[in-house]
Order: sequence, then C-alpha cells, then structure tokens
Amino acid sequence: MKSSYMEPGMKTYDCAIIGGGLAGLCLAIQLAEKDIDVVLFEKNEYPFHKVCGEYISMESLDFLKRLGLPFEALNLPVINELGISSEKGFILDHTMKMGGFGISRYSLDHHLSRIAILKHVTLLQNCKVNAVEKKDGQDYEIYTSQGIFSAGIVCGSYGKYTPSFIQKDEDYAAVENKDGVNYIGVKYHIKTDLAQNRIELHNFSDGYCGISKVDNGWYCLCYLTTSRNLQNHGKDIKAMEAQVLYKNPYLKRYFSESEFVHSAPLAISNIHFSKKQTHVRDMFLLGDAAGTITPLCGNGMSMGMRASFLLATELVRYFQKQSSLEEALAGYSLAWNRNFRQRITAGHYLQSLFGKKNTTHFALKTLAQVPVVMDKLVALTHGQAF
Ligand SMILES: Cc1cc2nc3c(=O)[nH]c(=O)nc-3n(C[C@H](O)[C@H](O)[C@H](O)COP(=O)(O)OP(=O)(O)OC[C@H]3O[C@@H](n4cnc5c(N)ncnc54)[C@H](O)[C@@H]3O)c2cc1C
Repeated sequence: MKSSYMEPGMKTYDCAIIGGGLAGLCLAIQLAEKDIDVVLFEKNEYPFHKVCGEYISMESLDFLKRLGLPFEALNLPVINELGISSEKGFILDHTMKMGGFGISRYSLDHHLSRIAILKHVTLLQNCKVNAVEKKDGQDYEIYTSQGIFSAGIVCGSYGKYTPSFIQKDEDYAAVENKDGVNYIGVKYHIKTDLAQNRIELHNFSDGYCGISKVDNGWYCLCYLTTSRNLQNHGKDIKAMEAQVLYKNPYLKRYFSESEFVHSAPLAISNIHFSKKQTHVRDMFLLGDAAGTITPLCGNGMSMGMRASFLLATELVRYFQKQSSLEEALAGYSLAWNRNFRQRITAGHYLQSLFGKKNTTHFALKTLAQVPVVMDKLVALTHGQAF
C-alpha cells in the first residue's frame, strides 16, 4: 500500500533493481563496479533454494569469474556428456563441445549476494517491491515492504511472475500464453551414481526430467511437466511420479535407488514460456522478466546473465552521459533481440519434440545416427562466451 511518505532529504539512488536472482545480482555488481549507486530489493533472504535444473552453460563461466565467483575453490563439476532417453528406454549419448557446469542456486545466488555487498550495493533482503511510480517525470519512487525509496533508473529482474503493478501498466502488453499450456516445475537434491561430467534428460509423458551434479556432493533432479498431468493424478506429486515418470526405466531407477536429501520437493506452478518485453515505459526488464525460455534449452540462467551484461553496457554509457535514456532503451532492446531471438525460436521447436512417447523416441533414434545435427542443435542452445 502506498500510504507512507518519503522522508524529506532521502537519498536518491542512481539505479534500483527489483529482484535479486541471477540477472539482478549480476547487473548490480557490474554497475557498482563502475561506481554507480545501486539499491537491490529481494523479497527473500539468502541463501534460499529455487526450482531450477542448476546446469549453467560454459558461455557464462568467464563472466562469473570476472564478477568474482571463486570457481576453482568451489570445485564445481564440469559437464560435457549428455544423455537423452525416451520413455521407451532408448538413450542417445552425445559429447557436447561447449558443455557447462553445475552449482545449486542456493550457493550461486548466495555467493553473488556476498559479492554485491562487498562492492557496496545496498542489498535489501526480505524487502518486497509493491509499486513503482515516476514522480514529476524525474525520479522513480519505489514502494516496498521496508518503506519508500527513490532512484533515477529502475530495472525489473523479478523473474517469471510479473508483479501486478507491472501488469496494470498500460505500456505492459499482457503476454499471450500461445500454446495455452501451463507447466509446473519440481526439484529435488539427491545423492546418486551418475558420472559427474554427465547431464541426463529423461522424457516421460508430457514432460522431461534433468539430472546433473552440483556442489555439496549433491545432484539436482528437476522436472517440468504440465499442470494437467498433476491434476490428472489428484494433484499428488508422488502419485504422478509413480504412475507417469516411472514409465521411463531410467527415471524409475533414479527415483527408487537414489538418496533424497529432503523428502519433500520444491515445486512451482503456472509457468509458461514466451518473450515478453525489454522495457515498460523507461523501466528496463531483464532475465525471466523479459522472456522465459524452455529449460530444455538449459540456459535461462546464462540468458539472464548475458542480458545483465548487455544492459550494464548501456546503463554505464547512460550514467557516464555518453547516451540518452531513449538511446539506452533502444540499444538494449536491439541487443536483446539480436542475442536471444534465435535461441527462443530454437527452444520453442525443440520443446515440441520432447515429452511425447513415439515422436521423442523416433527423434532420438534418428538424431543418434547424425551426431553433426546433434552438435548443431546443442550449439543453438548454448551461446558464445561473453
Ligand atoms: C523447471 C525449470 C528448470 C530450469 N533449469 C535451468 C537450468 O538447468 N539451467 C538454466 O540455465 N536455466 C534453467 N531454468 C531457467 C532459470 O531458472 C531462469 O531462467 C533464471 O532463474 C532466471 O533468473 P532471473 O534472475 O531472471 O529470475 P529469478 O532467479 O527467478 O530471480 C527473480 C528474483 O526476484 C525476486 N522477486 C520477485 N518479485 C519481487 C518483488 N516484487 N520484490 C522483490 N523481489 C522480488 C524473487 O524472489 C527472485 O529471487 C529452469 C527453469 C525452470 C522453470
């Protein structure tokens, strides 16, 4: 509620960032490194778990190291082998040229939040943004659970769920859920016997499940399926797993023979995949806030980090008075589309090949015969280093 008033003489930050996931944290660190005064609002408190497959494409490694992530000290698993199985039990094996590495969001976001604080970002945790308003065509007022703040620029990195105050904005084009399907995501940390350089994707009816190693000796087991699949099983996750996922023999074995670190999964619902927009009026959007890609493409995190890199470049130029706000908005939008349009389209088509009993089985058997095509498909989902 916008009831309290802003204290007279309250400081105005150069930039306010709404949401401290990967996109928001990475943006905050890069701006703070250029002496830009940043406040970042995160509604949760670090460290915390997130539903995510926790596989990061190698394209982001140099970037994360430059931000200060102690990659070597963390001794993270490097992943270059891929296995994709059909529900019928066929598995396609492929060596990935670029590959990735594994780290839990619990650790990664926590590390980045510590780096942000060290770089003098004002990081407010347990602080939810409820509304944003531009006053007198000048600075923004940001209404949060911890009071009102002021900033010249506002960036939204609030993730896949668009807050109501953005949805209500006339400049926000409500995103059409093109295929009309709502998905759910479910994640466990497990201990299992998969090789640490291997990621596996196992298909089942209306979904797929990824398994790969992260830090702490754990593996991340994370799947995506339709809400309908869950509804058809009385909204009972365990019943759905036993009756649907176990039909894939690989998944049956992982579920039956692994040790589950926490018995209850972390689950999220109401997910759909689409490009949204790169700004609402002159508020910049990045990460999932600007567009969500199917996890099959494995690289939503890298897209969020790369978007933070593209936006930081534009904002630094703006704060150094080398460009106007209009130029920064247009430059970011152009860069975003250049970098991600092809990946989003590839993700859309790949998604349609997966989670179907016969189509997926046939596609995998065919692709197994032509590793060059597999190389090309994997390359479409992994960008170049930045
Ligand atoms: C099932 C599934 C599996 C996936 N697997 C992978 C994978 O293996 N590899 C990969 O690269 N990508 C994967 N992704 C995609 C990846 O998780 C996202 O693309 C990535 O997390 C986006 O980062 P973000 O910073 O935009 O959003 P998030 O990480 O979601 O961060 C948004 C933050 O904003 C905060 N927030 C929201 N609203 C407010 C508010 N009003 N005020 C204050 N704070 C707020 C939230 O608490 C959150 O911390 C997967 C996605 C799903 C659904």
